[in-house]
Amino acid sequence: MEVLKQAILDKGVILSDEVLKLDALLNHQVEPEMVMEMGREFARRFAGESITKVVTVESSGIPAAFTTALQFGVPLVFAKRKKTLTSDQENYSERVPSFTKGIVTDIMVSKAFLSKEDRVLFIDDIIANGDAARGLIRIIERAGSELVGMGVIVEKTFQKGAATIREQGIRVESLVKISGLSGGVIEFE
Ligand code: 5GP
Repeated sequence: MEVLKQAILDKGVILSDEVLKLDALLNHQVEPEMVMEMGREFARRFAGESITKVVTVESSGIPAAFTTALQFGVPLVFAKRKKTLTSDQENYSERVPSFTKGIVTDIMVSKAFLSKEDRVLFIDDIIANGDAARGLIRIIERAGSELVGMGVIVEKTFQKGAATIREQGIRVESLVKISGLSGGVIEFE
């Protein structure tokens, strides 16, 4: 998505060789028209897959997951983050380390919102090592839902997350792939 690449070049801030701050377009502020285009692009890529639900993890995945769900005309379910494990009979929860915050959180989805009948598209904002994504994939599997694939806004290909998920046989579609951040330069694949 060229418009997204340009926005990343204009507004992204390199914090280190591994981390790109994207607060101005993904993690703190969002531009509605660009997020609408993300939804249309994911809908094009996963057309014909009979998707019944779009899922994401709060909070930065929600805008693009919402516009994608709107395109498919299906509900959006967002996994909630919990500071303490509130594992009960009603929820699926998984513990995931946070790449940027250096802490561990629990993500949870109510059993009421995912079922064996669902064909699920998972939308995520940024994939690095893939821990957060693997947590939600485990929840989708435990619910018995069919994971149709994963749509990622920004994939950092110099970290192994997306590659390991593809190795599991899961289709991963990324709008932008960043292959490096060294030397203060954002490199696209
Ligand atoms: P992972 O679990 O794949 O290692 O990290 C995924 C999460 O960490 C993303 O959802 C995102 O919130 C955050 N993250 C990882 N790398 C970056 C980065 O370079 N920039 C920003 N803004 N967030 C990142």
